[in-house]
Amino acid sequence: MDLETATTGDGTTVYIDTSTAERGSVGAFHPVFTDADRTDRWGYYCSGCEGFDNAMDTMGRIVCNDCENVRKPDEWDAAHE
Ligand SMILES: [Zn+2]
Repeated sequence: MDLETATTGDGTTVYIDTSTAERGSVGAFHPVFTDADRTDRWGYYCSGCEGFDNAMDTMGRIVCNDCENVRKPDEWDAAHE
């Protein structure tokens, strides 16, 4: 298990699962949890700008608000073919 601890902008300690990555256009998005057991999902960590300011929309797309990093679901699907 590869977990890195980090502190978000509002002072919350979070755990970054660096063993799991969603491939983005700039860098990987890693899942972020608020507990070391990875049961409480908090969001994503953007490796492109090393920040937490991103969001997933209803299409399953992850968009970073601080850099150009985007994970497009259709690109993800193409990788399985
Ligand atoms: Zn970013």
